[in-house]
Amino acid sequence: MKKRFWKWALGSLIAIISFSCLSLMGNQNSVKAAGEPTYQIGTDVTFPPFEFANSQNKYVGIDIDILNAIAKDQGFKVNIKPTSFNGAIQATQSGQLDGMIAGMSITPQRKATFDFSKPYFESGVVTAVKPGSDIKSLNQLRGKKVAVKTGTEGAEYADKIKNKYGFKVTTFDQSNDMYQDVMTGNSAACFDDSPVMQYGIKQGLKLKIITKPAMSGPYGFAVDKGKNKVLLTKFNNGLAHIKKTGEYQKIVDKYLNGKGGTPMGEDNSFFGLIKQNKTVLFNGLMETLWLTIVSIFFATLFGLIFGLLGVLPNKFCQGVSTTVIYIFRGLPLLVLALFIYTGIPSLTGTKVPAFVAGVITLMFNEGAYIAAFTKGGIQSVDTGQMEAARSLGLPFGKAMRKIILPQGIRLIIPSFVNQLIITLKDTSILSVIGILELTQTGKIIIARNLQGFKVWTIVAIMYLIIITVLTWISNWIKRSYKL
Ligand code: GLN
Repeated sequence: MKKRFWKWALGSLIAIISFSCLSLMGNQNSVKAAGEPTYQIGTDVTFPPFEFANSQNKYVGIDIDILNAIAKDQGFKVNIKPTSFNGAIQATQSGQLDGMIAGMSITPQRKATFDFSKPYFESGVVTAVKPGSDIKSLNQLRGKKVAVKTGTEGAEYADKIKNKYGFKVTTFDQSNDMYQDVMTGNSAACFDDSPVMQYGIKQGLKLKIITKPAMSGPYGFAVDKGKNKVLLTKFNNGLAHIKKTGEYQKIVDKYLNGKGGTPMGEDNSFFGLIKQNKTVLFNGLMETLWLTIVSIFFATLFGLIFGLLGVLPNKFCQGVSTTVIYIFRGLPLLVLALFIYTGIPSLTGTKVPAFVAGVITLMFNEGAYIAAFTKGGIQSVDTGQMEAARSLGLPFGKAMRKIILPQGIRLIIPSFVNQLIITLKDTSILSVIGILELTQTGKIIIARNLQGFKVWTIVAIMYLIIITVLTWISNWIKRSYKL
């Protein structure tokens, strides 16, 4: 292996780590620099007219506009975090977010774990079916499937009545996935909030409402119980004020009269979609790449440490290595991500930014794979090599460094490049914790325009292009260094 390669690799790694430190520091400074407090607020960006990304991909909607108006009125700043409804609930509960506004119904059950603002909108759950469907009432749902959204009142309602009406429940994370399931005929009906269904249908959503609102109740802004009292008071004061000035009504009217930046009715041709969303797609791609680079750096360190521990002639070190590999290779990435992003903060009470949680997740998971093949690579160097080196009088450490490692590392480079590509693909799973990478960007665009097929095609092509480039680079490295 040429020295040049190692110099280059080391240089890049140092550059990456300095960059990550700088960017993390930069983030903190921007929070500190702002004189007004900035609150992290979760929302469910697939819930028009309450929250969605408009055609300029800016978060808008009744909830978002109300929150912004209140923030302005009360002198604070908000940072909107786009997750799913359930994701926002978990992140608020674990203290990762300061509050959430997501068309969230105030229910006695939720009051046990959340503190709610004064109500700001009345709603209820309705049932919708395909326009041509002959289902006219809940009684006709026997033996059929009903789509609901995880953690919502609609899901709660379905659970309550499913035995009475004899239907099965299928759960989705986003409203539009649930609508899609009904439109394609997999589910016979779906349950969602009445103003959201009505708005969607007005915008061209191919569904029909067949019931009157059930489980009616108001929406409220929520914070974790007993926490962020100041924010809640500011919200209530601001709400009262914008109701008095008429701004609240103006916002509601703007969206309910269809003038709130129509979520549909854009140029939905394939190239129209690319043109319209090129900036956000590009930003999503950059976030994906950045996440991959930083994660693979830490995963490599993690993997090398635990891989090397596994080949030391010491039972304890070998045991540690085997256990770490066993645990982190065995855990599904999604579970690990949720555990780190929402599980740990709820225990320790400290916030972990989504990006950092994502990097830690990938470091453990990809790092465990790197550890496994590092260990395997080194072990597959012929044992005679070590024996020969030792019989020539080299101590174990030196023999390892000079004779075994150079051969072992050569063997693991192809697996390493492979792992880099896998890491890039795995970043898509981190969309669940609200990181605005390429997949999450795709979800948000689809929530607005319901163009699932075309948007996923564009996103898939973008992933493929990057992966092709990486494969070329890896082949070039393999050829140049005769690996
Ligand atoms: N209002 C419903 C609830 O609170 C749905 C909210 C949503 O889907 N964003 O459960």
